[in-house]
Amino acid sequence: MLPELGALAKMIGNIWESGIVTNHGPYHELLEERLCEELRVPTAMLFNNGTSALLAALKMFDLEPGAEVITTPLTFAATPHSIAWNGLTPVFADVDPRTMTLDPAAVRKAITPRTRAILGVHTYGTVCDLDGLAEVSQEFGLKIIYDAAHAFSVTVNGAGIGGFGDATAFSFHATKLYTTIEGGAITTPNMIDARKIYMLRNFGIKNEEEVIDVGINGKMNEIQAAIGLLNLDLYRAEQQARASLRTKYNEFLSGFDGVSLQVDQPGVSRSEQYYPLRIDATRFGASRDDLYSHLKDVGIFARKYFYPICTDFTPYMSCPIHCLSKIPVVETLKNQLICLPFHSRVTNEDVEMIRTVFANTAQKRQYQPAL
Ligand SMILES: *Cc1c(COP(=O)(O)O)cnc(C)c1O
Repeated sequence: MLPELGALAKMIGNIWESGIVTNHGPYHELLEERLCEELRVPTAMLFNNGTSALLAALKMFDLEPGAEVITTPLTFAATPHSIAWNGLTPVFADVDPRTMTLDPAAVRKAITPRTRAILGVHTYGTVCDLDGLAEVSQEFGLKIIYDAAHAFSVTVNGAGIGGFGDATAFSFHATKLYTTIEGGAITTPNMIDARKIYMLRNFGIKNEEEVIDVGINGKMNEIQAAIGLLNLDLYRAEQQARASLRTKYNEFLSGFDGVSLQVDQPGVSRSEQYYPLRIDATRFGASRDDLYSHLKDVGIFARKYFYPICTDFTPYMSCPIHCLSKIPVVETLKNQLICLPFHSRVTNEDVEMIRTVFANTAQKRQYQPAL
């Protein structure tokens, strides 16, 4: 989603005139203020991308080298990368089959004397078991960091999702609902962390003569911030368009045996970042991969998201997934998950086409003569 070019040009004009192009300029400061309101959090600190926000969020707690951080394999590679890049050890735990987010019971099984933190992901905008994870973290004295890259604007009984746990990282990448093209933020439930995050974002510089932490350059520039300010007024319309698309998809998909929709969470608002489905091949009559290629045949590009999962990638291939069952839930899920096209440019004809492909794919198998 891009803002109107004229409006952006005007703001860039102001930036040129002032000569302040980065390092906490006026648009940057204004966006942080407005994000606190929008996300309903006391602290929102901008970053130049979601990954640097995740890196700094983990760095905040000064965990010792090799300390274990438990996370989900059902996420984007940046999540475990941010653990490993900090010199910490990613440990993978299974997900709950209903929410597809970290299962607190599986997290318990992954805990060792070296465990220091949990990095939960609100995958597809579905919120983690906040109470369950809080309970585990209290019992074992662990930090909780959340990756809310899919969960912009989500509220839980009116409270902003960025106010849970010890810190939350957001991504404002161009593929996300709310975007600054590249960008991100750390939010925390209190104001105390702001100084620490500020320094980590700016090379660990305390003042002109003192550098007291191993920081990075995580600063967002003024052009990104200008785009962010404009998009704050635009993303709700996109979100609403997606909400009505969700209703259209739900209407015809709930009629198919073997198709499960994203869960409804009472009291939780939707980000409308993704529209994930699970295809149970036996009940649906065709596999996720069949469906994916039949959609592709008619020019509809769905995504096998997340497939492969992080533990299928070279750096994490040898990592086990701690789970309650013999086979991790996530190993089954990864072959069932498909995300349908989900944005305001999806037309009614597209929806009709997708409906037809689902009907034909399911029917084909149903009417296959028994041999
Ligand atoms: C997009 C994304 C990120 C990374 O954000 P960038 O802004 O692209 O660095 C991290 N985690 C998840 C789950 C994401 O989807």
